[in-house]
Amino acid sequence: MVNAFAYVNGELHAERVPAGQLAEQYGTPLYVYSRAALTDAYQAYASACTGRRAKIHYAVKANSNLAVLNVFARLGAGFDIVSGGELARVLAAGGKPHDVVFSGVGKSTAEMRIALDAGVRCFNVESLAELARLNQVAGESGQIAPISLRVNPDVDAKTHPYISTGLKANKFGVAFDDARAAYRAALGMKHLRIAGIDCHIGSQITEISPYLDAIDKVLELVAQVEADGAPIGHIDVGGGLGIRYDDETPPDIGTFVKAILDHFDRRGHGHREIWFEPGRSLVGNAGILLTRVEYLKPGAVKHFAIVDAAMNDLARPAMYDAYHAVDAVAPRDGQPPVIYDIVGPVCESGDWLARDQSLVLKSGDLLAIRSAGAYGFVMSSNYNTRPRAAELLVDGARVHVARRRETLAQLMDDESTLPD
Ligand SMILES: *Cc1c(COP(=O)(O)O)cnc(C)c1O
Repeated sequence: MVNAFAYVNGELHAERVPAGQLAEQYGTPLYVYSRAALTDAYQAYASACTGRRAKIHYAVKANSNLAVLNVFARLGAGFDIVSGGELARVLAAGGKPHDVVFSGVGKSTAEMRIALDAGVRCFNVESLAELARLNQVAGESGQIAPISLRVNPDVDAKTHPYISTGLKANKFGVAFDDARAAYRAALGMKHLRIAGIDCHIGSQITEISPYLDAIDKVLELVAQVEADGAPIGHIDVGGGLGIRYDDETPPDIGTFVKAILDHFDRRGHGHREIWFEPGRSLVGNAGILLTRVEYLKPGAVKHFAIVDAAMNDLARPAMYDAYHAVDAVAPRDGQPPVIYDIVGPVCESGDWLARDQSLVLKSGDLLAIRSAGAYGFVMSSNYNTRPRAAELLVDGARVHVARRRETLAQLMDDESTLPD
């Protein structure tokens, strides 16, 4: 993995650009992504798949900025989408409809129609009701919808309950015990074509074994479904590979991919076409969030550093109790550090970004919140009428404004006061 955010002469850089210069020029809070880090992560998947019938579909929801999507489109990635909006983004960023997989539990009729007209590669269907709806929508427009069923293999991905998706108690996928019957139902639907099978067991998974358990269960079903007369063209193992935020030790991407492909070989399915849907592992460590310290607030129990980024900019700490490492952009030497909670200006006790960080700080200092490339900007909101942050994509010494900072005028543009 390239280290895209490293210290040079005592100052944090994004590739070859000093982070302080970016903050000066573009303001804070500021998301900064590294093209080299995005490319490196994608190439790790791609090179581990060399010589195999395998396809990488980037899970757009992790970071859907057009510049980020464009980097992946240029590298030859496919895309995993969960809404009509994400389809529009992929197409605007140069992605090809034939490289798009449409996932999600709640696809609307309108979204199905748009995706059919565009010609997406596959619909990952999550219920019998959705199968019936898609069959009808395809029939009305004289089309055949390629489908796979997202099967819930009921394995424990050993991750946070909010990001675990492959257990019986989750809303996702068709229950394992119902999947064969659901495929039989699909076989009887005239406007559907069975293309493959898929599962996605969760996110921030740091072990390989849950994947291998899921694959074994999926392969049981493949045998049953093919015996029923539906050839399975591809097996989609989903996304979910974790990254290092703190002291986690996920397998690196190459090791992970090889373990999965080897497992298919061992089970006698090495000839199958295998799809991956990575999100976080492609973008998470390719981004940081720059923020400036507004105030230092010492307390009896805790010391707070109040910064200009908040839960509306980065929701993961408030939402998942997630850890993000925080580093000073220009660390001060020779003074004893203080333990701070890093908090934002939003009027909620849940508005914190990091806890118990040992730092030497002064008001006005810049901080880098690490590992902010995935589920960062995409989850941001305008709570407290805070315009959303700008996003930059750095490429060597070049800086591309991937998204301008939102303005207050934009925020109020669609609203109006009452008529007289
Ligand atoms: C979110 C999601 C992914 C990506 O998950 P990561 O943990 O970011 O890799 C892949 N597939 C589906 C269906 C998803 O919902």
